[in-house]
Amino acid sequence: MSSDTQPVSIREARNRILAEIGDGVTLVAASKRQPDDRIDAALEAGQRVFGENRVQEAQQRWAGRQDNLEGLELRLIGPLQTNKAEDAVRLFGVIETLDREKLLRALVKAVEKTGVAPPDLLIQVNTGDEPQKGGVSVAGLTELLTATRDTYPGRLIGLMCIPPAEEPAAPHFALLKSLADAHDLAEVSMGMSGDYALAARLGATHVRVGTALFGARAS
Ligand SMILES: *Cc1c(COP(=O)(O)O)cnc(C)c1O
Repeated sequence: MSSDTQPVSIREARNRILAEIGDGVTLVAASKRQPDDRIDAALEAGQRVFGENRVQEAQQRWAGRQDNLEGLELRLIGPLQTNKAEDAVRLFGVIETLDREKLLRALVKAVEKTGVAPPDLLIQVNTGDEPQKGGVSVAGLTELLTATRDTYPGRLIGLMCIPPAEEPAAPHFALLKSLADAHDLAEVSMGMSGDYALAARLGATHVRVGTALFGARAS
């Protein structure tokens, strides 16, 4: 489907989502596998916070756009391989998917080596304990959190989760919010196209929305 057959404009979709989530919540535009014209339409509508899943796709998308965009914030919301850590700290202002000490060490090293301003970090929590999914287990959170606060030069600012697709999301959202509160972390990144309004009600500070904003992705 080409993007000019979208039923509503990206501007309208964005306004509707912003109205639903309210003032205190930031809309992160999840732009993976979306064509350029939709990214441009979102930018024209005023969107400045984007979530990217892959380092390479993000580099290609933002290399030509980044410079003249006041207020642009790029957030990595997909899994990060340690060998991409340097590219990631160069490109992203926020990395939402820290989930293991090996990656933490790679990020510390990447910041040292590149000399860039260290990105802020969120820890991804695997609230459903799904073996195939990224994220630290709830049981392992405190240890990773302590290690991050001890060694990482930037700021650890929040938690992120992707609830299991086949379960009600509300208990996962409530759990993530309570973990963030317990550890004094301000940002709570949760909620996607199907449940961003629920996430906002349950304490999200950031919702990551793709298809409800842009339309269906290229497969
Ligand atoms: C793709 C993606 C989203 C957005 O998904 P939609 O259902 O299209 O809104 C949010 N978070 C992460 C981590 C994603 O990979």
